[in-house]
Amino acid sequence: MSGPVQLVWHRGDLRTHDHAALVAAVAAGSTVGVVILDPNVLGPASPRRRAWFLENVRALRVSYEALGGTLLVRTGEPWLVLPVLCAQLRAQRVRALRSHTPYGRVRDQRTAAALARITWHDGLYLRAPGHVRARSGNPFTVFGAFFRVWRDGPAPEPLEPPSHIPAPAHALAECGEIPTAPSDVPLPPAGEAAALAALREFAERRALAYADTRDRLDGAGGARLSYYLNIGALSAATAADALWHRPGTGPQKWLAELAWRDFLADLLERHPELIGRAFQPRWERFHWRAAEPDFVAWRDGRTGIPAVDAAMRQLRATGWISNRARMLAAQFLSKHLRIDWRRGERVFYEWLLDADRASNTGNWQWAAGLGIDNVPYFRVFNPVAQAEQHDPDGTWLQRWVPECNGDPRPLPGAIVNPAQARRDYLAAVEALP
Ligand SMILES: Cc1cc2nc3c(=O)[nH]c(=O)nc-3n(C[C@H](O)[C@H](O)[C@H](O)COP(=O)(O)OP(=O)(O)OC[C@H]3O[C@@H](n4cnc5c(N)ncnc54)[C@H](O)[C@@H]3O)c2cc1C
Repeated sequence: MSGPVQLVWHRGDLRTHDHAALVAAVAAGSTVGVVILDPNVLGPASPRRRAWFLENVRALRVSYEALGGTLLVRTGEPWLVLPVLCAQLRAQRVRALRSHTPYGRVRDQRTAAALARITWHDGLYLRAPGHVRARSGNPFTVFGAFFRVWRDGPAPEPLEPPSHIPAPAHALAECGEIPTAPSDVPLPPAGEAAALAALREFAERRALAYADTRDRLDGAGGARLSYYLNIGALSAATAADALWHRPGTGPQKWLAELAWRDFLADLLERHPELIGRAFQPRWERFHWRAAEPDFVAWRDGRTGIPAVDAAMRQLRATGWISNRARMLAAQFLSKHLRIDWRRGERVFYEWLLDADRASNTGNWQWAAGLGIDNVPYFRVFNPVAQAEQHDPDGTWLQRWVPECNGDPRPLPGAIVNPAQARRDYLAAVEALP
């Protein structure tokens, strides 16, 4: 096809379905996709997340080829790479989905300054940051109120992938190799076909029971879609659409969880300082214990508290744990051990395949009771009762902490007595000026 070339720049949106930039590009003329391996992103990424990203790029190339298109891969800083590539391809316009993370925004401003021809589209969230507002126009700081407006908005209308991606008439430059990177954990199947299949399986077989099963410590009640959503192999609108019109508490509860993702992205866009700073400033005066041996015991899953150790061992070995296990591990570090939540947040960010700046920072602050969503600081999980309730037959504990024989009570030599640690934490908070 002749006509001006459109370049679609994929970042955290490694898919062809529900992709507004790709649809607009194809409507405007011949289209080429590109992924830029940005050293500022991939350099600091843990081996598992680098490998996960690259496997999803490989799958995206397969998706492009199935539609007759080409996905180029380049390496370097985007604001340097894109102007050169646009000149080579004689590209008339670059299109991309708008990023909302602190680094993503800086990167995009720099790239837009180097290249005037960029059009941004929404698509990383069902309701992009800045869109869910009170009638007064004010943003929400409490999730319940945010969710009511989020749910009352228009139903999701995910876009179909184009039936064909028209190629430019002139020959393209080298496609660019996708490097392989070793992962230290087994990776789930990558790409949008796998993501859409996982969504279908959840929607058809497990969503109805979600409200009753979502808190299971082994995570079997959840959709396990977070690593697809955060790499963009699955669109949030497509996920929401699968359950939007389904009655029942399960589907409705699940949509509320998806809304948490939008809520925390909105919060981080307004408060980029939340990476590293407590939502309520008074917590900056809290005395976090240095306690290096306790931190190492927590990180390595050797605290002697079976549910906490199971969570941390599973996280390290697989790159994923359930929401309940995340809450338990995060509260144990920040409340029972009174160790700085930022240290734990960094460990999660390194080990989670679904690591996401907004969700990780926001949830750590929520779990540590630092003011997000007004959650009360004095809510402290009892790790023994939690395991009794959410792993009643002890199978999850047995799988990850075989030495406890499925018994959630502290093992001999546990680094703290949870009841005493809870009292010490509450006393420390009450002494906070
Ligand atoms: C301390 C802590 C750290 C976390 N870090 C991350 C992170 O880095 N990345 C991440 O995606 N999630 C994070 N979460 C949220 C949540 O635990 C995961 O999204 C969820 O466990 C993923 O499993 P699932 O796909 O089966 O979720 P489901 O229960 O099936 O939920 C569906 C989707 O909703 C979203 N979601 C669910 N719960 C939350 C939540 N509390 N906050 C934001 N989005 C949510 C996810 O996209 C998830 O895939 C964290 C939670 C805690 C307590």
